[in-house]
Formats: sequence, structure tokens, C-alpha cells
Amino acid sequence: MTPKGPVGSPNPNMPPKKGPKFNIYWIYGLFLLALIALNFWGKDFTHNVKEESFQSINSRFISKNWVDSMVVYGKSVDVFLDKDSLKLPVNATLLKSLNNNLKGPQYSFTIGNVETFRDDMTEAQKNANLDQRIQVTYTEDAKSGWLGFIIQFILPIVLMIGLFILIMRKMSGGSGGGPGGIFNIGKSKAQLFDKGTKVNITFNDVAGLDEAKVEVMEVVDFLKNPKKYTALGGKIPKGCLLVGPPGTGKTLLAKAMAGEAQVPFFSMSGSDFVEMFVGVGASRVRDLFKQAREKSPCIIFIDEIDAIGRARGKNQMMSNDERENTLNQLLVEMDGFAGDSGIIVLAATNRPDVLDAALLRPGRFDRQISIDIPDLAGREDIFKVHLKGLKKSSDLDVHKLAAQTPGFAGADIANVCNEAALIAARKGKSEVNLDDFNDAIDRIIGGLEKRTKIISPEEKKVIAYHEAGHAVSGWFLEYAYPLVKVTIVPRGDAALGYAQYLPKEKYLTLKEELEDRMAMALGGRVVEELVFKKISTGALSDLQQVTKMAYAMVSIYGMNDKLGNISFYDPQSEGGFQKPYSEETGRLIDDEVRLLSAKAYERVKKLLTEKMPEVKIIAEQLLEKEVLFKDDLERLIGKRPWDEHQVFEDIIQATIPDTIAPSPESTTPTV
Ligand code: ADP
Ligand code: ZN
Repeated sequence: MTPKGPVGSPNPNMPPKKGPKFNIYWIYGLFLLALIALNFWGKDFTHNVKEESFQSINSRFISKNWVDSMVVYGKSVDVFLDKDSLKLPVNATLLKSLNNNLKGPQYSFTIGNVETFRDDMTEAQKNANLDQRIQVTYTEDAKSGWLGFIIQFILPIVLMIGLFILIMRKMSGGSGGGPGGIFNIGKSKAQLFDKGTKVNITFNDVAGLDEAKVEVMEVVDFLKNPKKYTALGGKIPKGCLLVGPPGTGKTLLAKAMAGEAQVPFFSMSGSDFVEMFVGVGASRVRDLFKQAREKSPCIIFIDEIDAIGRARGKNQMMSNDERENTLNQLLVEMDGFAGDSGIIVLAATNRPDVLDAALLRPGRFDRQISIDIPDLAGREDIFKVHLKGLKKSSDLDVHKLAAQTPGFAGADIANVCNEAALIAARKGKSEVNLDDFNDAIDRIIGGLEKRTKIISPEEKKVIAYHEAGHAVSGWFLEYAYPLVKVTIVPRGDAALGYAQYLPKEKYLTLKEELEDRMAMALGGRVVEELVFKKISTGALSDLQQVTKMAYAMVSIYGMNDKLGNISFYDPQSEGGFQKPYSEETGRLIDDEVRLLSAKAYERVKKLLTEKMPEVKIIAEQLLEKEVLFKDDLERLIGKRPWDEHQVFEDIIQATIPDTIAPSPESTTPTV
């Protein structure tokens, strides 16, 4: 298992995010205040209109001729009393109870329908001998003027817009104001490191990566002295692609580049462009380049460019117009600026193979700088960089740390150093020592150590023999990786034990090596069968590895006689539904894979039957000590019969964890 770097780990070199200049919640607050104020003012304006029945209005006011006019809004009627009548001394208490509301309306009542109301009014006025003096106005409008208007029309609209803004903000992931609001959804979300917050990372902070640094240094020179190159008619590259797995320092290198060149640095992730609205991505690209032109010379860094740069229109079913528009815009922008405009676009990806070919054409990302997982020397350098800030014990051996961390990326090493410091602090130590680092490494390899995990003695025995099977078979198979340690201390959730190996540093793998590795991976299960006459679920990850290797041999590397020298490897069709071969060939592949696995099983079974005494010795020692290193194995079963040059020079870590398949009734293994 290859430890994955914390891709999004907080970077101490980032300046803190600036507080938003204006916050959307302020607007909300103001709206609310205005509404409350309106409410009060509006009440004052309408002066507590009292609800009454028509009968009561009739007997109290109409019959006395104190009503001036009425306004009918649909089914609701406002009553305006006569000002002069209200001023009469007899009405002093009434006026007071109406808060001196002379203007009206003072009362309102509801009616069944306008016809009967009209009749009732005529009747009432006739009874009072008023001769239709009361002026009645009929309006179609809903109730009560502009307050009602606000409540009925404006408020819902405002609420809807508010909701819309909120959703937009949620979707664009903004937590404060600033970018991401509705008005700048099309603006780029690039982080800018400029004067004041200028990048202060230099190449000294980037350990290892020497070749990459040389290339990048050249680009820095382009930025600093463009004339030098253009004078000779040369074209300055516009884009560089940094290719490498996560956590290997691509972002760091790009930043160091900006730091060295002393130019502003725009940083953005490919996924930041992608929004669910059509056209947003393209507009963000446009905005990014507009900003960059204003700040040139500068560096634009686009992390995870594969988020927008995937090959276009390959899979019609999953084609994504929005992403294509974004990609097209990026291509247009890159074509649009002259080489000496002082803008260099850097992009990082882990998957250059899925990128659209158009991106890699001359004038775009025509340079590729590959950044790999660091080797031993590289890891040592990275450790040195990250140990600088730590209070460590003086006898800490950096070389040893590096040797113990094959396969770790720079980010993992930074993580180890931090974790070690935390562990030491928790133990109340005044300095960080090797033990803390060992704990930290273990933790990062396989999750937290779980010595407390309850494993029955019988289970422990099975695990010990299983691991001994791996260790011993690897010991006697010529092409197996050299062993580092074998342990039955459970780690993480699933690994019950593991054997850790150091792969040799090389780029070509022989057929024999794959076969030996398959045999070694099956060594665990073979021993279970030989010793206990039973097999367990403990070999899940072993079997997965074997299957993967066997399929690779047959269908990718052309290492099978029946299928011959053909490869069905197509990185772009990953996850596709269509297999590039016939059903018949598929069956043949399956058969050959099964055959390969069976052959490897027989081979390692023969070997381990011979070496059973060694297996027993190792297993019993494992039960006692839980961890055995290479030296222990040499002491116990003699030197490995095969040459081991180039130990410690590795590309990937081969830790073989033994996981158990979750059984339906419980997740603990039952043997
Ligand atoms: P990537 O962009 O390749 O995913 P980053 O550049 O974000 O990786 O690396 C994450 C962190 O890992 C860096 O901030 C740094 O602390 C550490 N790191 C990675 N590579 C190196 C290196 N070569 N030298 C020093 N530190 C490194
Ligand atoms: Zn195993």
C-alpha cells in the first residue's frame, strides 16, 4: 500500500485569507432593519385600524352621520370617519381611543360580497336619512397601500433572491464574502501572492528534485530576462506541466519559482473552474488571464489541471460541455498572449495521460517536468528541510529515517516530522527522538497502532505463520524484494500483520520478478494450508495483488504465450464499459490468469514444504517478538542465498498488509 500524501494539507506558507470587504450578511441585516422600521412606520401611518362588524359601524357611526368615506378593497372595507365630527366634544374619548387618528382609516370590516354591501349601505343611509352622502370607493387592489404591496410582492422576491444568493454561495464553497458571491461567480477564484504577501519560498525550501529545479530555473530566467532569449529569435515557453503523484512538491516548486523570480503568483485548482452553471468556467479562465496580464510578469499555477484538461469528447455518454468550454477558453487564452508578455502558466497533474492532446501542443504546455516520489537521498534531504524547525535529539540519524520511509512523498515526510513532534509533546518530552519518529512512521504507514485490538491466541498463531510464509518464501525466491521487517502487530483497521519489503530501483521488471512476487504473495496462504490444513480470509490483499499482477502479465505486458505479444492497456478508457477484446479473448485471459496464479501457488507450496523448518522458526519468533527485522532473519535462518545490491534504493514501497475480508456476521476474523 502506498501512503498517500495529504494533498490539501494546510500550508504554513500561505498568507491568511483576507477578511471580506463587505459581507452579504450585512445586506441581510439592513434589509431586516428596514423591514422592522417600515413595520412601525407603516403602523403609525395606518394608525391601528380597528376591526369591527358592519352592524357596529352602522349603529355607531353611519346612523350618526359621522362617516366621511369608505374604500372597498376586494372584501375588506376601510372606514374614514368625518374629521369635523371627530373633533366634536362628545367624541373626545373616541378620538383618544383612536390615537388622535383624524386622517383615517380608523375602522375596517369585511364583507361577503360587493352587491350585498352596496344594498346594505343604501339601506343604512336611507335609515339615517343620509341620501347616499357617504362616498364609497371601490378598488380592485388588495388591501392597504404600499405596506401590503411590500409584503405581498417585494418581500417574496427579496427572499427568493436571498435564497438564490445563499445557494450560489454554498455551491461555490465560499465561507465569507469575497469571491464566490453572485456578482462575481464568473470571476476567477485564484489566490494571488503579490507584494506584501509575496511568495517567500525559495529553491532552498524544496529538497531533492534537482533535475526539476534546473529546468524550472531556466524558466525563471525567461521571466527575468526575456530579451536575452527573444533577441536571438527564440520563443519563450508559455507553459510547463509538472507531472507527478500527489504530495511530491509540485505546488511547492511552482511557488519557489515565483519566489525566486520575485513575481506575483496566481494559484488556482482545476476544480475551482468547474461550476454547475454553463459558461462560468470559461469566464473564470478569462478573468484569471485578465488579472494576470495586469500583473505581468507573473506565474499562473493551475493545480490538478486534469479536472478541466481531460481529453474532449472521448466518451459521448459522459461528455461535459461546460468542461470543454472551460478547456477551450484556456487554450484560447494561452494562444492569445505573446511569449514575451511575461506570463508563464504552470500546471500540475498526476495523470498526463488523460490530458487533451491540444493542451500539450507547442505554444501551450510544451514542457513537461516530471517529479517523482523521492529516492533515498531525496528523502534524506526532505527530512533535513522539515527537521530544521524541530527540537530533535542530537543522535537522530536522518539517513536511517530516510531508509525507513520508502515510498513516502514529501508531504508524507512533512507529516511524519509533524506527527513525531506531536507524539513527543504528548509524552512530555523536551526533544523529539528516534522512538517518536518510529511511531510517527508506523502511524502514517498503516494508521494507528492497535496493540489493544483483541486477537485470540489461535488467531495470532495463524497470522504469525502466514507472515512467516511471506518472509521465508521471499527469502528464498531469487527475484523477490529484499525484506525490511515482518510483523504481526495489527495496524489500522484491516491489516493484521505485514511484511515490508524494499523494491529495487529500476524501471523495468522481468517476467521472473513478477512470478516470484506472485509466489511470495501466495506464501502466506500456502503456509496456512500446510500447517493448519485450513485457509482463512487473511489472504485477501495477497490474492488481490496476485490477481492484479497476473492480469497485468497477460493483458498488458504480453508475457503470456497463448495471447502473445499484445497489450490491451489503454489509460484513457479507464472505467469505460467497453473491453477492447472479444468475449473469447476475455475468457482466454481469465483462464491464463487462473493458470498463472495456480502455477505460482504450486511453486511456492513446493518451496515452503522444503523450508518448513525455517517457517516454524520464524513464526515462533514472531509470536514471541511480534516484529522481526532483516538482521533477525539472517541470525535465525542464515543469509539470503541471493545477492542484494542496491538495497535502500527504491521507487515504491511494497508493504504487503494482510487484510481480512469482512465476513457477513462479524468483522473480526474467525479461524
Ligand atoms: P503537490 O502539489 O505535489 O501535491 P505540495 O507541493 O502541495 O505537493 O506538497 C505538500 C507539502 O509537502 C509541501 O508543502 C511541503 O511541506 C512538503 N514537500 C513536498 N515535497 C517536498 C520537497 N521536495 N521538499 C520539501 N518539502 C516537500
Ligand atoms: Zn499475506
